[in-house]
Amino acid sequence: MNSPSSTVPSGGGHPDGNDARALATEDEDVSAIIERELKKVKIKLIAGVQAVSVEQTPEGLMACRLSNGQDIRAEKILVSIGRTLNTDGLRLEDAGLTTGKRGEIPVNDRMETGVPGIYAIGDVTGTLMLAHVASHQGLVAAENALGGDARMDYASVPAGSSRDRRSAAWAFGSIRHGRRGCR
Ligand SMILES: Cc1cc2nc3c(=O)[nH]c(=O)nc-3n(C[C@H](O)[C@H](O)[C@H](O)COP(=O)(O)OP(=O)(O)OC[C@H]3O[C@@H](n4cnc5c(N)ncnc54)[C@H](O)[C@@H]3O)c2cc1C
Repeated sequence: MNSPSSTVPSGGGHPDGNDARALATEDEDVSAIIERELKKVKIKLIAGVQAVSVEQTPEGLMACRLSNGQDIRAEKILVSIGRTLNTDGLRLEDAGLTTGKRGEIPVNDRMETGVPGIYAIGDVTGTLMLAHVASHQGLVAAENALGGDARMDYASVPAGSSRDRRSAAWAFGSIRHGRRGCR
C-alpha cells in the first residue's frame, strides 16, 4: 500500500469557529497537547473553518476550498465530519414520541421519554455519543422500568482519544458547561 505524500484530514472540531481547536469535543487541556504534538510533526492545523468544495486539479491533486477563501492542495482528503442522528423512518410518532431539532429522542435523567413507560438510551437520545454512556443509560432505564429511581449524571464521563500515543480525559462537564475547577 502506498502512503499519500500529502493528506488533508477534514473534520475534527466545530466548524462554526465558536470553539476553534483540535479535537474540540475533548477537554481543552487534551486539545492543547494534541495541537502541540501536531505542530512537532509539522502538521498544520487550520481551525474554525469549513471545507466548502473539493475539486480535482489537472495534475491529479485534490484542491479543497475553505470558508476563509484559502485553497489547500493534497494528494488525498480524509473526510471525518462527524455523525448525525438517524431517527427518520422509525415511525416514532405512532408511539406518541416527538423528536428534537437534531432528530434526537428527548429524555429526562431517568431516561424516560415524554411517553410514560417508554425509555430511550444511547446515541439516539442525543446526549454524549459514547458506548459506555449508552450502557450506563441502559442500566438506569432498566432499573427505572422495574420501579427503581436511578438517574444519569453526566458530570464525570471518561473519554479517550488515541494517536500514536494515548491521551485521555475525564470530561468533568467542563467541555460544554464551562470549567468547574476540576483537574
Ligand atoms: C467510528 C466510530 C468510532 C467510535 N469509537 C468509540 C470509542 O472509541 N469509544 C466509545 O465509547 N464510543 C465510540 N463510538 C460511539 C459508540 O459506538 C456509540 O456511542 C454506541 O455504539 C452507541 O450505542 P447505541 O446502542 O446507542 O447505538 P448502536 O451501537 O449504533 O446500536 C444501535 C443498533 O440499533 C440497530 N437498529 C437501527 N435501526 C433499527 C431499526 N429500525 N430496528 C431495529 N434495530 C435497529 C442498529 O443496527 C444497531 O445495531 C464510536 C462510534 C463510531 C461510529
